Amino acid sequence: MKHTKIIDLLSGNLLLQEVTAKGWVRTFRNNQFIALNDGSTLQNIQCVLELDAFPEETIKRVTTGAAIMVQGVLVESQGKGQKYEIQVFNLEILGDSDPEKYPIQPKKHSLEFLRENAHLRIRTNMFGAIMRIRSTLAYAVHKYFQDNGFFYVNTPIITGSDAEGAGEMFQVTSLPIDGSAPRNEDGSINYKEDFFGKPTNLTVSGQLEGETYAMGLGSIYTFGPTFRAENSNTSRHLAEFWMIEPEIAFLDLDGNMDLAEDFIKFVIKYTLEKCEDDLKLLEQRLLDEEKSKPQAERSEMSLIDKLRFVLDNNFKRVSYTEAIDILKNSKPNKNKKFQYLIDEWGADLQSEHERYLVEKHFKCPVILFDYPAKIKAFYMRLNKDEKTVRAMDILFPGIGEIVGGSQREERYDVLVEKMKALNIPEEEMWWYLDTRRFGSCVHSGFGLGFERLVLFVTGMTNIRDVIPFPRYPQNAEF
Ligand code: ATP
Ligand code: MN
Repeated sequence: MKHTKIIDLLSGNLLLQEVTAKGWVRTFRNNQFIALNDGSTLQNIQCVLELDAFPEETIKRVTTGAAIMVQGVLVESQGKGQKYEIQVFNLEILGDSDPEKYPIQPKKHSLEFLRENAHLRIRTNMFGAIMRIRSTLAYAVHKYFQDNGFFYVNTPIITGSDAEGAGEMFQVTSLPIDGSAPRNEDGSINYKEDFFGKPTNLTVSGQLEGETYAMGLGSIYTFGPTFRAENSNTSRHLAEFWMIEPEIAFLDLDGNMDLAEDFIKFVIKYTLEKCEDDLKLLEQRLLDEEKSKPQAERSEMSLIDKLRFVLDNNFKRVSYTEAIDILKNSKPNKNKKFQYLIDEWGADLQSEHERYLVEKHFKCPVILFDYPAKIKAFYMRLNKDEKTVRAMDILFPGIGEIVGGSQREERYDVLVEKMKALNIPEEEMWWYLDTRRFGSCVHSGFGLGFERLVLFVTGMTNIRDVIPFPRYPQNAEF
């Protein structure tokens, strides 16, 4: 039986026609009113049963969570709360849901409880909204790059290069791990016998391979899974997350910052236009959540205002050196409120510092640039001062770092020297160095953690709630 999505039924185009809808029962009131949802929109469609028109046996099986099909006439609703409803003449139970056992009841569940039921939480209004927004953002990411002359590149997920340097890696091997793996004479594991003939890992970033493609296609982007075995049990880190990494030939750091800002604004604007209902629901969720917080910790702006604010204001561009001055003289530094006190130039910024700059000092998104070379990766371009590199991080309120990027070191000699100093084996990076040997040029790129973006746009507070099945220490359920 062909059915119509609820989002299309609610457009009203099929008014007074016979329609079929399929979905999951959210609530059933007075043995008469079914609120039916099929995921196509936040809105339910009200399905009205005439009293006593259906066998009691069937009526009993209309329970929260059950999959049903209704056929009826789409009419304007007499009741409050909805514009259209279906006057049902045929009702079929497609899949029962035992009300004694179905975990997702029509009441407020805690986020922790829903995380434990990640396979069913998508049937709640909140997670429907989050995941529709996630999908829209993903589409906007592709749209932005495709409309601007970038090519989508798939970099390897299993990588043989361990120089990505962005975090702890998960090893990939087909050798037994119970101690019976083949050994070299010195007792170390003989990786020649491993599947790839060498040690391999899950990628932490597609950047290095992405760079080689930018040197042929001009402008590229990746959008794929990345893996970090970081034992950080935070609300902003996942062990498996999706990263967007554009890489552009003939672009310097200023152009890179312009691109990142323009890109973020585009995807937010696109989502504001497409996901109004879902954003409103999440805005209300945030308001409710914050009611339980002390006034000082509540946000000054509602979710949608916060998104608009990002669109309407330039990101504040501040050098690392300026930022250190601000932090050194800040109240929490002087009062020793920071866990890590800032006393000298060169200190790595912790998330408490990033959040101070964004949330307390500038009160807007901030782009920090020209970091000390010592605290950044080997491939970032050294400045004339020989102390700083052309790195940039974008910091967002409530999130901290959302983007990390740089202009890349395009000078062969400088790059090799840096690799030597850091003990990065040149032999293994021969292919990367080739890009600097043959037709090297100024180029730049950045990595944006997709879930951090979804976190910001949805106003959720834990990154585990914006990816369908989160991976984090001690958890790989589902
Ligand atoms: P952080 O300091 O927050 O750990 P990072 O410096 O390790 O970030 P990069 O290596 O620059 O981050 O990665 C690029 C982007 O990927 C970050 O700006 C962030 O948006 C995202 N990201 C990094 N690590 C994670 C993670 N474990 N889970 C989700 N997103 C991440
Ligand atoms: Mn990290």
